[in-house]
Amino acid sequence: MPSRADVVVVGGGPAGATMAALLARDGHDVVLLEKDRHPRFHIGESLLPHNMKIIRRLGLDERLATIGVYKPGADFTADSVPEQRHEIRFDEALDVPEGCGHAWQVRRSEFDRMLFEHAGDCGAQTFVETHVKAIDFDGKAPLLTVQQGDSTHRLAAKFVVDASGRDALLARRFSLQERNREHATAALYGHFRNVPRRAGAASGNISIYWFRHGWIWMIPLSGEIMSVGAVCNPDYLRGRDRDVEDFFFDTLALNPHAAERMQSAERVSPITATGNYSYFTRELMGPNWLLIGDAGMFVDPVFSSGVFFAMYSAEQGAEIVRAELAGERRAARRARRNYRRRVHCGVRELCWFIYRFPAPAMRHLFLNPSNVFQLRQAVISVLAGDLHDNPRVRRRLRLFRFIYMLLSLRYLREALRARRQRLRNADLEFDRAT
Ligand SMILES: Cc1cc2nc3c(=O)[nH]c(=O)nc-3n(C[C@H](O)[C@H](O)[C@H](O)COP(=O)(O)OP(=O)(O)OC[C@H]3O[C@@H](n4cnc5c(N)ncnc54)[C@H](O)[C@@H]3O)c2cc1C
Repeated sequence: MPSRADVVVVGGGPAGATMAALLARDGHDVVLLEKDRHPRFHIGESLLPHNMKIIRRLGLDERLATIGVYKPGADFTADSVPEQRHEIRFDEALDVPEGCGHAWQVRRSEFDRMLFEHAGDCGAQTFVETHVKAIDFDGKAPLLTVQQGDSTHRLAAKFVVDASGRDALLARRFSLQERNREHATAALYGHFRNVPRRAGAASGNISIYWFRHGWIWMIPLSGEIMSVGAVCNPDYLRGRDRDVEDFFFDTLALNPHAAERMQSAERVSPITATGNYSYFTRELMGPNWLLIGDAGMFVDPVFSSGVFFAMYSAEQGAEIVRAELAGERRAARRARRNYRRRVHCGVRELCWFIYRFPAPAMRHLFLNPSNVFQLRQAVISVLAGDLHDNPRVRRRLRLFRFIYMLLSLRYLREALRARRQRLRNADLEFDRAT
């Protein structure tokens, strides 16, 4: 363990490993610290097409293709009988950049190990089973207290990047974390065998099912495994009065089409439950620190955007660190402004959809889409992660929002009930994610 470095990155998930690779590639002296070891389980297995641009810039697209399941699109199914389902393909989006007509479903154990090893290949010094216990800013530069087995080390850095995920080391240290007052969700999930995939070319689709208290995902993974999870209102999960596995299957049964697909399912992992995990952070950066990925914020996984935002914020954040290390003050100010604007604007765009996803009007629009003015394509672009640069998409989204509002009038009573429910949930005490 060195005693000093230019940059210390805390957390070897997608955000931290991407940041470490990019800075090490520039020749900076980078240390990447991970408290766990790789490979390790992590939830968040469905990637977005626009993440493929970042993976390609890292030079990992071919390796990803060897570990992932090809994800051409997504399908959405209501809980009504007879079945109401709509399927989208990412290659139908507006202005599909090269290589962004699909994504991959990954076991995070393999994906995160690939990124972590890549950071080492790029020149970062990487350490696993190395837990950052504290970061002090008493002098000007960050000083980290790091535990490896029984020994404790001190590590001085010019700049520290917090990529510790939902542990949110620095946001807690500075009391910056605040719950999302608009939205709260909790989840139950596990891995299964013997769950049929969609037929033919759609076999790698993520499937989303609505049910009364939330939504269900099915993500096909390598080795004939299906990742299945239910994201629900925290008060529904709190009301659990049964064994977690029974509760999970009873929850899936709330959508008859999901239940039918799970008829012969055989569980191959424990069922895990997480508490409410939606939060923001009042400030994402300071003089020599930066928060990236989930260490800065997390909303809801419904559109599989977590890994994309983690890697995107690492790419954008690397501009700040480069400028700071080079002592280029104006460039650093510009990079900080860009980071705030770009990271926030993408999340804001997606939040609008996330908050309304359970609402009847949104369900109607997802299940009965029209491509007038290329609106359907614009929504597919958003679901593909085209959230930052495309004015054609943004213009159409404004129109989509207007149509949503008009349609909400038709479902006024249900829409008000859904909104009340959402805000009541968000008002529940903020349980830290487990
Ligand atoms: C139920 C659920 C379903 C999800 N589904 C999806 C999905 O389908 N697709 C998607 O893209 N996203 C999904 N996500 C979100 C996704 O899991 C995260 O957004 C993503 O993992 C964030 O990456 P990260 O690198 O910021 O954090 P992480 O992946 O959490 O990595 C943080 C790393 O930091 C390490 N660490 C923490 N504290 C310390 C410390 N003190 N010292 C050293 N190391 C430390 C941790 O061990 C971990 O390896 C889901 C999330 C949930 C809760």
